[in-house]
Order: sequence, then structure tokens, then C-alpha cells
Amino acid sequence: MNKSTPPATGEWLVGRAVERTDPCLRTGAQYVESLRDGRAVILGGRDVEDVTKEPQLRRGIDTLAGLFDAQFDPETREEVTSIEPKSGNRIATGWLVPRSKDDLKRHLATIRFSTLHTFGVFGRPPDYGPVKAIGFMAFNHLVKKEEPGAIDKIERFIEIGQRHNLVSADIIIDVQTSRKLPMPEQEGRLRVVEQRKDGVIVSGIKAGNSVMAQGNIGTISMPPPNPTMPDECMLWSVVPSHVEGIKNILREPATTGLEHPEDHPLDSAGEEGDGMLLFDRVFIPDEYVFSFKNKATSGAYYTLGRFAQFKIAARLSYRAEIFAGAAQAIVDALGTDHIQGVRALVADVCAYAATLRAFMVAAVERAQATESGVFLPDPVMVTACRLHSVVGLPGIMQHLRELSGQGLISRVPRATWERQDIGPLLDRYLPGYKVSAREKNRLFNLIWDMSSSGAALRIALFENLNATPAAPLREELYRTYDRSEGLAIIRKKAGLD
Ligand SMILES: Cc1cc2nc3c(=O)[nH]c(=O)nc-3n(C[C@H](O)[C@H](O)[C@H](O)COP(=O)(O)OP(=O)(O)OC[C@H]3O[C@@H](n4cnc5c(N)ncnc54)[C@H](O)[C@@H]3O)c2cc1C
Repeated sequence: MNKSTPPATGEWLVGRAVERTDPCLRTGAQYVESLRDGRAVILGGRDVEDVTKEPQLRRGIDTLAGLFDAQFDPETREEVTSIEPKSGNRIATGWLVPRSKDDLKRHLATIRFSTLHTFGVFGRPPDYGPVKAIGFMAFNHLVKKEEPGAIDKIERFIEIGQRHNLVSADIIIDVQTSRKLPMPEQEGRLRVVEQRKDGVIVSGIKAGNSVMAQGNIGTISMPPPNPTMPDECMLWSVVPSHVEGIKNILREPATTGLEHPEDHPLDSAGEEGDGMLLFDRVFIPDEYVFSFKNKATSGAYYTLGRFAQFKIAARLSYRAEIFAGAAQAIVDALGTDHIQGVRALVADVCAYAATLRAFMVAAVERAQATESGVFLPDPVMVTACRLHSVVGLPGIMQHLRELSGQGLISRVPRATWERQDIGPLLDRYLPGYKVSAREKNRLFNLIWDMSSSGAALRIALFENLNATPAAPLREELYRTYDRSEGLAIIRKKAGLD
């Protein structure tokens, strides 16, 4: 660590101090311990006293804990950690501010790892959380005219995030009310209700907030620009999950039937909670108010979110590789791989995966530094990738269901299979092609969790909507894709002026 810089303690933000052995990295157990901080979480009408003791949250917490342990495993350490150049500390790569293409490739490596670990069904893994802070740093040149002090605050926040290996949720989107109401008339819109010398007090409600109940902090940033947005709602900031005045109202769990991992290989690894966050006069110290009443920041949703878009697209590109593997595993197990129509469906899934992969390679190869010196992937490639991935995903999930046929419903729970009057007969009657009946059953349990379960639908909804749905992506692509050369050729050929 640079000896001249005092350690970033960030007491208010970090909350529960958990003893650690490494300056910046936390083990899975230390991450789990950090969540026992008295946060207010409500699930099914109940106050959850300790999220780590709540089975529906704990499974997801354990899955995320595996990502922290990977930081210490010699086999995976390089994939998920990096040396922070200023301090010399080894940090979680998610918190690395990218200064080169190589740094972006390090980010890709960590996203790949977390996607394979979670099957990509956690949209907000720990490597995602710092995106908004990094985006803010990348575009400081837009912010600094109005708020010259913002960069120091954001740098300190990033340092705290690095030092404490924090998991951050995104707090962006406002709740649904009548979309005809102008923003100032929307009573619940999160806003600063009191400005003090030492900080601000905010009240209101926010939607989504995936992983906030299982993470440490949430980064507040602004939703897509709207001309009626009142000044007091223009806020970029951060709050800890345990802060006084916040209540996290969780949706009902989507993972069910979890008696044994054999029955639900994916759902049994849990899920990330989504919920609405109620803010009741929450105090945020000034050092964490990165931007307030700044019109440049409030109008730059897409620009400031560019790094987030990249991470989401990258996760989906690795998920697509898993889908391609799933399609092949299905046709192998059923012995349908010789049928032309079946091979065509598998090829569609392969084309989806290959396209997303190609977008990601191009995005990184064409990466450039922003005016503020942060390296970001080519935004047009990222937007096109996100659009293609979002629009194509329902079709890919349908392909898995189509390829599976009755496999998705002729599944038998482990407890039934273990009955002596049934199991041996199923073993005889249901074998697949070069796989036993029980193995085939396990495969379709997994395919069910990937394509058809409640949790599969929840992640499909997530992919469709999170951090910019297809409609604004199309608008963004229309605005930014350079087709001037093609246009000139057409105009010339058609004899247009
Ligand atoms: C599982 C899940 C997890 C989420 N997690 C988070 C999170 O972690 N953080 C966070 O901030 N948000 C989160 N969200 C919220 C998500 O960002 C929003 O749902 C998304 O931005 C769409 O906004 P909305 O739901 O308010 O849609 P609304 O504005 O209420 O619109 C409803 C529908 O109308 C249509 N529509 C509206 N406006 C337009 C338009 N201009 N052009 C075309 N069609 C339009 C669209 O079909 C849209 O879906 C999550 C959502 C889901 C489903």
C-alpha cells in the first residue's frame, strides 16, 4: 500500500467490521459474516432478523461466498483478482479501474468465472457492483464543471470498495406509478428532503435493487433522463444495506422445490433477491454525495452506464456458451443429434453464442480511453451486443424447451426414484442414448431450472429489463451506429444529392 495515503476506513459505509487476514480480499466466511449487521429486510410479511439464517436468502449467499473463496484459491486467484497499480494491493478485479485493454480482459476473465460459477443467473455478482462508480470516474469530465469535488469523493469511494471488497447493488429505477404523472407529482420518487452542511436526508422508494439484501451497499444513480425530473431527485450517491431508515421489501422467492440438489441442480444454489427499497429520512454524509442537482449527470444515464452495459453483455455472452452446451447435452442424451431439424436448432443456439462472443471481442479490441483516462469498450459494439442478446434470449430458451420435448415433464424427484417399487423400473424403462435413466433425469432437472422454472423466468425478466430494455437500446443504436459510408454509397448509386 502507498504509505502516504491513510487507510480508507469508510466506517459509515462498511458498517460491521469483520476481522480479515488479507488487506483487501475477504473470504466467503468473512463476506457472510459482514451481512449480520441488523439490516431491515422484509420477506413474506416477516422481518428477517438475520439474512444469513434465512434459507431462501442463504443459498444465494453461499453461492456468492464461493466467489470470495475463489480469490484465495491458487487455481482461480489470477482469474478473479488483480494488482491495483497505485497501492500495489491485490484487489477483487471487479473494483479495478480499467486503464488499458489488458485491464478490460481481466474484467472479462472475472465475469467469465462468476458466470460459470453461478450459471449467470445472478445478474449482480460482486464483480458487477462497482460499474457505476467506475462509469462515473470515466466521465468525470462531464461532471466536474458543476462539481469539481466529485472526483475526490468517487476515488475515495472506490478505494473503500477495494479495501473492503464490497458487494454493491444498483439503486436506479423508480417504482411504477402512473406514467402519465409528471415526476414532481410522483410522491414516492426518491428525493433529497433536507440538505444539511454535513450531508443530505433522502426519502422515497426505489425498485429492483437486486442483491441489496445479500450485499453490502447500493450505489444510487439516476434513471433515464426525463425533462420533468425535479432538481432534488438528481442524486448520485451510495448507501449501506444496513443504514438506518431503509427497509428492503423483498419479492417472493422464485426458487422452489429445493429438497435435494439432484432435483434442482441450479435452483438449489439459490437466487439473488430483488426488492423495493423504502427510504425514510435516510442520512447520507456529504463525502458519499457524489453528485447532486447536476443537470449534466442527470442527462447522462446511458453514458455513465457504459461500463455497466459492457458487464451485462459479457455475462450474457458467457451464459450463451452455457446455453450452447445445454443444447448439445440434450440432443446427445436423447440421441436426436442425427435429425436435421434438431441440428438446425442447436446451430441457432451456437450462432447466438458466437455472435455475442464476437461482439465482446470487437468491443474490447476497439476500446478507447475516455477523456478522463478510463479505458472503456467500444460503446456501439456493446449496445448492439446487448440488443441482440436481449431480443434473442426468449428464442434461445424456447429452443432448449423444444429440443427437450417431454424431458422437461417426465422428470421424477429423487425421493420417488429411491422407492424400491419404482426406481428399478424407471432405471429399465427410461434410459437415454448412452446415458442412464437417472443421469438423463438429472440433465432434464437442470434444463428445467435453466429454461422453465420460476427462477428461470425471473432471470429472463431480469435480462429483458435490467439496466436498459430493448426499446432505449434501439434508440441508442440508432443515434450512435456510424452508417455514413453505406449511406454515401446508396445515395451515390441512387443519384441523390
Ligand atoms: C428481475 C428484475 C430485477 C431488477 N433489478 C433492478 C436493479 O437491481 N436495479 C434497478 O435500478 N432496477 C432493477 N430492475 C428494474 C428495471 O430496471 C426496470 O424494470 C426497467 O428499467 C424498465 O422500467 P419499468 O419497469 O419502470 O417500466 P415502465 O416504465 O413501468 O414501463 C412498462 C413497460 O412499458 C413499455 N415502455 C415504457 N416506456 C417505453 C418506451 N419509452 N419505449 C418503449 N416501450 C416502453 C416497456 O415494455 C416497459 O417494460 C429490475 C427489474 C427486474 C424485472
